[in-house]
Amino acid sequence: MALADDYEFGLLVNDAVDAVIAELDYQLSLEENADACRCHDCVLDMAALALNNVKPAYRSSLVGVIYAQKLYNEDETKNQIEEAVRQAIEKVKTNPLHSE
Ligand SMILES: [Zn+2]
Repeated sequence: MALADDYEFGLLVNDAVDAVIAELDYQLSLEENADACRCHDCVLDMAALALNNVKPAYRSSLVGVIYAQKLYNEDETKNQIEEAVRQAIEKVKTNPLHSE
């Protein structure tokens, strides 16, 4: 009888995730981030840290694609993602998650 049994909540996607990963990919390619750790733990940590500082953009994967694309073309959102990713990379550089 639980709601989760009757509805496919797995269809919920957060478009901020794809946007953050794309921005992370770009910023890690920059010379200034050549020293950032690329291990699995650190890169996922960067993405998680950045995502906690950007506005989520959840939608059902069945509907709402146009709205989400519109959201991510707005300059304010783009700047927010760029800044969140920049800070996340710096944080992980200073405090890498991986164990030595
Ligand atoms: Zn690492």
